[in-house]
Amino acid sequence: MTTPDVRAAGEIHLGAVVTASPRKPYVTPYAEEVASLPLIFERQGGVPRLAYTDATVQDWMFGMLWARCGIGRGTKVLWPMIHTLRQRRCMLKRLCRVCGRSAKDPGEPNRTWWIIPAAPDDLPATWPTAGPPTCRAHIAEALAACPHLRKGSPVVCTVGDYRPIGVLGNLYAQDGDGRVVETRHQISVGLDEPHLFGRTLATQLIVELHDLRPADVPVP
Ligand SMILES: [Zn+2]
Repeated sequence: MTTPDVRAAGEIHLGAVVTASPRKPYVTPYAEEVASLPLIFERQGGVPRLAYTDATVQDWMFGMLWARCGIGRGTKVLWPMIHTLRQRRCMLKRLCRVCGRSAKDPGEPNRTWWIIPAAPDDLPATWPTAGPPTCRAHIAEALAACPHLRKGSPVVCTVGDYRPIGVLGNLYAQDGDGRVVETRHQISVGLDEPHLFGRTLATQLIVELHDLRPADVPVP
């Protein structure tokens, strides 16, 4: 899963999408939501897998352990970061990264609005991304306020369909003393790479967009 790695990793900092705006984006975490929990390796069917000491089934999705974070938006905004669970929720439910409401087109609800930060002039048939959708009402605001988007050649489009293809995450192993140590940071792990699932702490969902159609920037 090499190609999505480059594109998706470049979008990690899109959490700062409205840095210059007073709005606090839905996918941006607050310091109060950060949870740093000790990780362990447990055995599942005789195979070691990453876990929390008090893990529940809700901590896994797509066969991988997901980074826990609080859900109780506070006061100190961590602009360059992405809230793992809200990013995943945006991806799975087609919610806007800025406001957290539906990013489906009001007139054509089978299509979803998306900003692709750096796409070729001719949109490809499919596109991997870790960046959640942006609703029609917030396209212009996101383009105007985000330095990262202004630097590239962002393409505004609507998307007919998409499917999860992997995650951005960190890989872990045990050292000679049995300590759990991070071995790779923010790499893409494909859903077709199950040999890595037990070592992965997932932080963002990567999806592959299908049926992309360029669109004009909607007038707010
Ligand atoms: Zn929105």
